[in-house]
Amino acid sequence: MDIRETKDIRSLNKLTILNTIIEYKNVSRADIANITSLNKATVSTIVKELIEDKLIEEGITGESTGGRKPIILTLRENIGFVIAIDLNVSVINIMLSDINLKPVHTYHLPIETNNFEDVFADLCDILDDIINCLPPSTYGLVGISVAVRGVVDLEGIIRFIPDLKWMNINIKNMLEAKFKVPVYVDNDGNYSAMAEHHLNPNYKELVVITVDDVITGGIISNNKLIRGFLGFANSIGHHIIDFNYNEQCTCGKYGCWEQFCSSKSMLKHINKHMDVKDIDEFISLAKNENPYALEVLDLFTKYMAIGITNLIFILNCEHIIINSKLISAMPELIHDIHSLIVLPITNFQDISVSLLGDKAPLMGASQICRLNFFKNLC
Ligand SMILES: [Zn+2]
Repeated sequence: MDIRETKDIRSLNKLTILNTIIEYKNVSRADIANITSLNKATVSTIVKELIEDKLIEEGITGESTGGRKPIILTLRENIGFVIAIDLNVSVINIMLSDINLKPVHTYHLPIETNNFEDVFADLCDILDDIINCLPPSTYGLVGISVAVRGVVDLEGIIRFIPDLKWMNINIKNMLEAKFKVPVYVDNDGNYSAMAEHHLNPNYKELVVITVDDVITGGIISNNKLIRGFLGFANSIGHHIIDFNYNEQCTCGKYGCWEQFCSSKSMLKHINKHMDVKDIDEFISLAKNENPYALEVLDLFTKYMAIGITNLIFILNCEHIIINSKLISAMPELIHDIHSLIVLPITNFQDISVSLLGDKAPLMGASQICRLNFFKNLC
């Protein structure tokens, strides 16, 4: 075994022990050895390093099972901070969290222009303000992660955001050059899938559908995120569902799924008859059985069922989580969609509503920042 391999194993062990302390919260050295199957001497040496790195600390003593009371280890409170950015098509949501992923502050920046330079300048102003006011910590800001409602390639370059007409933007390099911290960029659907999988680790085959201004997806197969050859395997909102539809989608095709089921398109459909300003107003109209709202809701239910049926046949997933403000407000829609799903192969498919709501991409983005910070440190 060469030096490099020895270092790799040591780094992996360090990361495993750190993750065990995070996952199990209050654990002793003996608990860690039991959980990870590492020997006690290795655990003790690495725990000492983690204490010296100011990542963990010894806390209260636990219950004794005979001899000396074990010392409980916990992640320190003031290690540093991560910034997660959800670059939606009408608003940018920004969340500052500590390393324990406890949100400290959230900020909202409306997108009022399609000019990327202007939006980027406004975003940098907010980030400057956040960074200048960071509370004291050991490592300060350890990373920024950006969730994008569009096509992001494997290098983190924004290839296309149809609604904003932004193409080929290396926002990762731009943010790294300005803020001098590692920056991670991915599609919001991927980040949402990571956050949901973190919450539901038992699902090995999971699909997360986010229905917002646009529709995005995240696919977990065999516990791993599926990205595809160029990184846009999850662009489910742009799979064609009605090829006779004569209005053009923002992507250039006709009859995409999100042209019927995204919040933005539902407003477009109802506003042929009315003047509804947002999805909250639409929900209120639907609950009050406004006939135009019910007509659009009927279209939504039917097309959601078709889209989900397609996904089930292509991916044969174990569980589908839908993240939709509309469905969260009217959970009975899940039953209606379920009853329209045509499945001659199997009569069972578990579909549920996301418990994370619009925080899902921000939470996934924060997790990636923390994970990479620890990886780099170990
Ligand atoms: Zn499309």
